Amino acid sequence: MKIIVDTELCEAHGDCVLAAPEVFDLDDDENVVALLDPSPDESLRVKVEEAARMCPVSAIRVEG
Ligand code: SF4
Repeated sequence: MKIIVDTELCEAHGDCVLAAPEVFDLDDDENVVALLDPSPDESLRVKVEEAARMCPVSAIRVEG
């Protein structure tokens, strides 16, 4: 599984951080998402897909 985040779209609402804190965080200034793990373990798939669904600007894409 590979995660791609469009940081141009991200508005730093943080929904993805709530859904999958193992994978997403906000940067130090809390202006944009920080991808902690672009290739997370399969065991995190449900959380990652939930994060992608919750993102209000559809900035998260999950491949594979
Ligand atoms: S949920 Fe979407 S808009 Fe919010 S921080 Fe994550 S990627 Fe950015």
